Amino acid sequence: MQRSRSVSGSGAARGREVRLYNTSARSVEAAPLDRERDVRIYTCGPTVYRSVHLGNLRSYLLADWLKRLLVCNGFQVRHVKNITDVGHMRQELLDRGEDKLIAEALRAGLTPGDIARRYTEEFFADEARVNILPADVFPRATDHVGRMISIVAALASAGHAYERNGNVYFRVNSFSGYGELGGSVSREGLRQGVRAEADPLKEDPRDFALWKAAEPGRTELVWSSPWGRGFPGWHIECTAMSTDHLGPQIDIHTGGVDNIFPHHEDERAQSEAFTGQRPFARVWLHGQHLLADGLKMAKSTGNAYTLGDLLRLEFEPLAFRYLCMTAHYRARLNFTFTSLRAAQTGLRRLRQHVAKWGPPGSTLSPPAEACRDQFWSLAAADLALPRCLALVWSLARGSLANLPDPDKAALARDFDRLLGLDLGQPPRRRPSDPFRGAVSSLSGLPDGLSEPDRCLLSVDVVVQPEEDLEAVRRCLTSVVRNRSGMDLEVVLVDATGSPDSHVRLASIAAQDDRIRLVWIDHDPGAGAARNLGLRASHGRVVALLDPSVELTASPWPRLLAVLEDALIGAAGPFGLVTADLRHFHDAEPPPAGEAVEVDALQNYLMVFRRSDLRRIGPLDEHYRFYRILDLDLSYAIRARVGRIVAFGNLPLIRHRHALWEALSEGDREERSRKNFGRFLKRWDHRHDLPRHGTPAQLVGEAALHG
Ligand SMILES: [Zn+2]
Repeated sequence: MQRSRSVSGSGAARGREVRLYNTSARSVEAAPLDRERDVRIYTCGPTVYRSVHLGNLRSYLLADWLKRLLVCNGFQVRHVKNITDVGHMRQELLDRGEDKLIAEALRAGLTPGDIARRYTEEFFADEARVNILPADVFPRATDHVGRMISIVAALASAGHAYERNGNVYFRVNSFSGYGELGGSVSREGLRQGVRAEADPLKEDPRDFALWKAAEPGRTELVWSSPWGRGFPGWHIECTAMSTDHLGPQIDIHTGGVDNIFPHHEDERAQSEAFTGQRPFARVWLHGQHLLADGLKMAKSTGNAYTLGDLLRLEFEPLAFRYLCMTAHYRARLNFTFTSLRAAQTGLRRLRQHVAKWGPPGSTLSPPAEACRDQFWSLAAADLALPRCLALVWSLARGSLANLPDPDKAALARDFDRLLGLDLGQPPRRRPSDPFRGAVSSLSGLPDGLSEPDRCLLSVDVVVQPEEDLEAVRRCLTSVVRNRSGMDLEVVLVDATGSPDSHVRLASIAAQDDRIRLVWIDHDPGAGAARNLGLRASHGRVVALLDPSVELTASPWPRLLAVLEDALIGAAGPFGLVTADLRHFHDAEPPPAGEAVEVDALQNYLMVFRRSDLRRIGPLDEHYRFYRILDLDLSYAIRARVGRIVAFGNLPLIRHRHALWEALSEGDREERSRKNFGRFLKRWDHRHDLPRHGTPAQLVGEAALHG
């Protein structure tokens, strides 16, 4: 039925059918919304033991645009966004009984409540900075534990859950249609989960925890329940809060694609099993990942930025909102500071145009009305924001630029109710760019590998965030001082992502004209930062040198001499040997003047021929953390070039390792494990590469050159 069109200012958006991609239908379809009552939206909110990162914010921006679209279309909306202040985000941590809120509180000397309050306030401030309209309710998980317990009890008495040793699990088998929400995503997640899972308490590896028994000694965030003292599982929180504030069924449930499995699959199963009403959510709306350096932005990956980071770099927060609008919500978006700068410039120019157009007119000419109609049609067609933004630009300098200024001014204000970019705000002066001169990504950089040698040796020193800059100074000074006539260059890679650090590194680099500074505007991770250095190197031989190392004399003649042997692929002072690829031991240091063949070299110092880099290939940029990357590089050299040897008694000192010391025990373990998994996947099957085991076999100079 054709609805009559209102002529009021906001009228063009009214009465339109809103189409969205529904994950459970795997297609774009008309959202089944009722104009006679509130549209109930539930958004999985933040876990408040740390700052939300830009990837999280992208997901909350999607919910905001959805809400604005519905409001502009004349719907009443009731939006609930929960605050998870019981911190177990991840199933394996949950299963180990660890609570990140507790861990963080202990570390900071605060109560979990203090931590949760601090980050909740920060979250509200971050949302406000990017013009996200506040939800109607922000329920806190800790205020709903009683309800969670009663839901778990109801599920248990209906046969959907069972208790084991104070834990309660959802019986997946009792619920038909488990896995249907996520389809292949859930199947793959299940497959991986089942493989990793070895909880003997579960009837079925697919079952998930609704309630967990408190580990002995736990005094914080623990509640009494019919099953003893414990705490809720993550998924049950959202069921309790959504049904409490929105009733048994909700219209649109939003989240990021990484929520689909297991969180939303489990939430849906337990909610429908509890209420007996299907579907729990009519539309499941999921936003794609924000990437950084090609990887999903995540704290655990080490590539996460917060709005606080952008503020420190003097970006306007709405530039990030603008940036997110340049990609459809179902497309991955790669975050770089270059693209953020471009977004900031775009936003500033758009405001300049709007300011030029003067006051908005009270009526629209027919072509302007057509433009307005087109804008709201695009928005209602699965939130086609990149096309909406392009339409706004066509008013400024495109096909619609010849519309009367009052029309354009009125349209800009109308569209901004959805966009939320403060387009009517006076444009600011061009902000200073603290990263002027820095590169933003590796792609597009000239590849120096194909260029001829310009010196004998390139010493590459990579500086990542948390590095001790005084150590960098000590390291570089020792390289320059112990050059002893060697034709060398130093390539200093600044991957700190900090303008302040850059100023200090630039002053370190200025101490000698052999030091060349390569600057990237963020930390791209250990692998990518080293690749950046390698591409900028022009020595016949390249040395990767860690800032924690200080040379006391020149180690170069011996290291370079051994590379005269084409069968040797790399050399360094700190060798490792292994019998099984799982345990690496320091190789026994050989007597002075001798070298020992080893399985791998440690990252402190490693030299190899630049001409071999084509065969070795670039370092794997999935290694954001430096550890194990040296093993991976060593194995690539062994597989494609030749043997690896270690020297004892080279003239150098290893000082404390700042990057290692900056990490908590848990972070070290998690990042190392991740990298080690990557290493094993690539090399475990290569039985053709000998494993030297312990003790190492000694190889004299003669043997090496024989
Ligand atoms: Zn949730």
